[in-house]
Amino acid sequence: MPIPTTRLPSGEPIPAFGLGTWMMGESDKKRGDEVAALKLGLDLGATLIDTAEMYGDGEAEEIVGDAIAGRRDSLFIVSKVLPENASRADTIAACEGSLKRLRTDRIDLYLLHWRGSTPLEHTLEGFVQLQRDGKIRHWGVSNFDTDDMEELLALPGGNACATNQVLYNLKRRRIEFDLVPFCRARNIPIMAYSPIEQGRLLGAAALKEVAQRHGATTAQVALAWLLEQPATIVIPKATNPEHVRENFAALDLRLTDEDRAILDRAFPPPSKKYALEML
Ligand code: NAP
Repeated sequence: MPIPTTRLPSGEPIPAFGLGTWMMGESDKKRGDEVAALKLGLDLGATLIDTAEMYGDGEAEEIVGDAIAGRRDSLFIVSKVLPENASRADTIAACEGSLKRLRTDRIDLYLLHWRGSTPLEHTLEGFVQLQRDGKIRHWGVSNFDTDDMEELLALPGGNACATNQVLYNLKRRRIEFDLVPFCRARNIPIMAYSPIEQGRLLGAAALKEVAQRHGATTAQVALAWLLEQPATIVIPKATNPEHVRENFAALDLRLTDEDRAILDRAFPPPSKKYALEML
């Protein structure tokens, strides 16, 4: 199954499914398995990898560097700057550190990991300089609620924001009330992190019921539901090769109206505004 794409605000296609890397790079013993899992994902057809300078204190980016060696050009690499490094100069220095660890000359999409105390315009200046220097192709944000997005987009150049990466899965639908429509109206894709709630979603009865109807797993149903959402990029993390393969097979799973009704009953969409949740 070819990986579906959605579009960045620029019109450039971006894969709607990719590989997460949080918790990678935290143990020497697991390093080989983590590189192998990412390589397996790429062999199966993934082209997008999501990482961050925070993950494993830079070690996850090193692991990505190993996994992408020799095939970087066909890939779309996402990384993130920590809010404490988000001044103009520190954003540039942080990106250069990430480029070294990833062993590449550019990051395709560079995100502010969450909002800190640095004025957004300073981070933006860093992003714009990095773009001018060819070190990043697009920039965006993560964990931004609707009011943060409004503030960002009102800044000069702020409407170049290419994505907002947020917690989104069946259990975390609150953003559907206003953040999702806000981003969709501006052609800003949502990147859905923790799509299976780090495994905690998988025992849910409604997921089991739908999974049974398809001879699928609950993880596949949770991913298939997110993959159906328009302008949404789904980035499950898996080190276990069985999980990697299983998650790819979610691309072939087609939910029915009845499945959606079961899931909506168990995980109802919001009827009012709630503050953005983050992990
Ligand atoms: P996740 O993808 O929802 O879940 C990952 C966990 O689920 C791992 O323990 C993994 O186990 C397990 N798993 C994966 N596929 C499975 C399957 N088919 N069946 C059973 N278990 C399965 O959680 P996440 O890592 O938090 O989120 C995904 C990515 O989003 C991250 O890796 C990161 O890149 C990004 N993220 C961003 C932020 C942010 O603030 N911007 C926050 C959180 C996450 P194994 O590893 O053992 O296979």
